[in-house]
Amino acid sequence: MYFLSSDERQLLVKSLLPNARQQIIADELRGWSWNLPPMEPPYSLKLAVYEVANKYCETSRDVWWRKVQGVRMPPNQPMIEGNLLHGVVVKAISRTKKLIWSMGLERAGEVIAALRDFDHVWFEREVAKFQSAKHVDELTSKARMIWEYEAAIIEARLRESMSRQPYAAEDSIVAAALPVTLELRIDGSMLGLSKHLSTDAYQSAEPLILELKFGEKKDFHRLQVTGYALVAESLYEYPLNIGCLVYPRFGGDRLSVEKEFFLIDEELRQRFLEQRDDRMRMVFEKIDPGMMTDCPRLCPYFEKCHEISGVQLSLPFREEKTK
Ligand code: SF4
Repeated sequence: MYFLSSDERQLLVKSLLPNARQQIIADELRGWSWNLPPMEPPYSLKLAVYEVANKYCETSRDVWWRKVQGVRMPPNQPMIEGNLLHGVVVKAISRTKKLIWSMGLERAGEVIAALRDFDHVWFEREVAKFQSAKHVDELTSKARMIWEYEAAIIEARLRESMSRQPYAAEDSIVAAALPVTLELRIDGSMLGLSKHLSTDAYQSAEPLILELKFGEKKDFHRLQVTGYALVAESLYEYPLNIGCLVYPRFGGDRLSVEKEFFLIDEELRQRFLEQRDDRMRMVFEKIDPGMMTDCPRLCPYFEKCHEISGVQLSLPFREEKTK
């Protein structure tokens, strides 16, 4: 999911990177200006990037429940599914890296053969962590499709890297064939964000932050990537100009993957900071933002909000994936 095809790499190299070099980003909108307004957080509290970026609840009452009321609800089905399927991608790539380092390239054939087998036992254990997981057979079939997709791409990349560089050692082949850091942990505290943020993937070959989304596309997904880019700039002091959202789609027995590249421009940076400041103020001043008018029935806080307002399920509602 995280590796670029030759077409995507051409798009990146011939179009996105030149555009990114030309775009002008004011220094005050770079993460390394964390000690000055508008980057400097207005309050000392900390929010997760998703608590700033998400707009599944248009009034942000979900954030109010968590941060002001201290109420945490169990994840809904789309969140569970997204979490488990994301774990399959991480497992396939990290397992390959571990196998290469433990078995060595002289046993590359065995590494590739081992990678082809979907690890059912591991996946069943993962599913069991979510007691409310439903449609497990369908979920397992999707997980297997993702595994097979990843295994095929990883195999091709390993074979290509080894044939191009026959004298390269394990570390060099891993870096060339699998140039992503998965779930990179970064400290967002300088920007008023959590100390334990985790980006889905960081592409080291080109400075690129990738985020995997199993639900439907949302405009605000770009804000989440923007938040991670600002944090990375605050920590490493180099510019991060390009983000990529990865949307896997299941259609019967087919899996397709759409990648959406975008420039992390001034507008996105400003929107992220405005949303951070608004939500921080809501939490700091304990302001109940009220309910949105057309709540998605899948919202984890649906029962809570509607119990309190005295309005039960007779309210109009819409089904919506939240991850
Ligand atoms: S039920 Fe509605 S108002 Fe309450 S958190 Fe969910 S979306 Fe927001």
